[in-house]
Parts: sequence; C-alpha cells; structure tokens
Amino acid sequence: MLTCKEFDDFMIDYLEGNLSIWQKYMCWMHVKFCRECAYYIQQYQKVIQLEQKAFDSPGDPVPDTVPEELIKAAMAHYKKA
Ligand SMILES: [Zn+2]
Repeated sequence: MLTCKEFDDFMIDYLEGNLSIWQKYMCWMHVKFCRECAYYIQQYQKVIQLEQKAFDSPGDPVPDTVPEELIKAAMAHYKKA
C-alpha cells in the first residue's frame, strides 16, 4: 500500500494516465482507503476539467464554486511542469 507521500508523487501521472497497470492499481487502492487523498484527487480532477473547459471555450468565466486557491495551486503546478 502506498503512503500518502508516495501517492502524491504518483498523482499527476495517475491523472494523466502515465502509470503502469501495477502503479495505477496501487494508486487506486490508496484512493479507496484514504479519504483525504480521495478528496484531494477529486478536487484536482475538477480543476483539470475546468481548465479543459476553459481551453475549449476561452472567455467563459470560471464558476464561483471553485476556490481561488485551488486554481492558483493548479496554475503553479502547470507552470512547473
Ligand atoms: Zn492518502
């Protein structure tokens, strides 16, 4: 079983589908049993979906329901990547 730290390292690749089947399975297991990481990945997926939407239709305002710090965190990540 992965630790939260290990999961965190894998998470981006997990979301982007860059993991081996075994690694994917390990992440999936962790999300199943770890509420915090399950919540975290959910939030992250929301941001990614929003960014893809924004990309599809530039000019659309970002809905108020997304906390600004979440968007900032995602932006910071994409800048690093
Ligand atoms: Zn965890």
